[in-house]
Amino acid sequence: MTAPSNGSDPYRRQREEMVASQIEARGVTNPLVLEAMRKTPRHAFVTKDMLDMAHADRPLPIGHDQTISQPYIVAFMTQALRLGGAGEKVLEVGTGLGYQAAVLSHIAEKVFTIERLPELAERARQTLQSLGYGNIEVSCGDGTAGWTEEAPFDGIMATASGPEVPEPWKEQLKVGGRIVMPVGAYRFGQHIVRMTKGTGNRFQEEKLLDVAFVPLVGKFGWDK
Ligand code: SAM
Repeated sequence: MTAPSNGSDPYRRQREEMVASQIEARGVTNPLVLEAMRKTPRHAFVTKDMLDMAHADRPLPIGHDQTISQPYIVAFMTQALRLGGAGEKVLEVGTGLGYQAAVLSHIAEKVFTIERLPELAERARQTLQSLGYGNIEVSCGDGTAGWTEEAPFDGIMATASGPEVPEPWKEQLKVGGRIVMPVGAYRFGQHIVRMTKGTGNRFQEEKLLDVAFVPLVGKFGWDK
């Protein structure tokens, strides 16, 4: 492991290097996103056995056949969500251990995040609470149905991939809001899509980047 850069935040230098070499170097430019990536303690969202790899340029296993996403993909998807207005509410589906939710919470006013596996949801809740993230709510369940009580959202992000964007998310999005989600075949061969909601329930769709994500499992996703 690299030597600590200072006593209070031993991973700060590693995060700064990660942002410069993996994220800025690949073209992410939004200063809010870069700052959120520098601030969020990625090492706190990996399993103990992966600590040495926490800032590596790759996804890492978190147990239960799931992963924490590659830092670049987290930054890319955060930028793609086009946040930055006042008082924004965001829904993330696929909490994992909570890293993406923490990144989003540095930009949005409030983040709602849903994880279907109870062990991961509970661990994410504990980690986020212990780090003092007070503007994130974690729920356990099938996020493909969205979160009706908290809708409408300015942005909805999925960190698992489905065959298509779930209909309930389209309904739960504000006019002008964005959905960012990996869409495509099961396990491999997907692309990140951004859907922007216009008036009259019309959506503009853009394909942004080829990716490989774990499946979004649920009523409006895959069945396993
Ligand atoms: N966002 C995480 C992070 O920041 O590290 C990465 C999450 S991992 C790539 C995808 C997660 O989506 C898994 O934890 C998986 O259990 C979860 N998931 C899959 N289908 C889901 C669903 N229908 N609702 C909620 N979570 C789901």
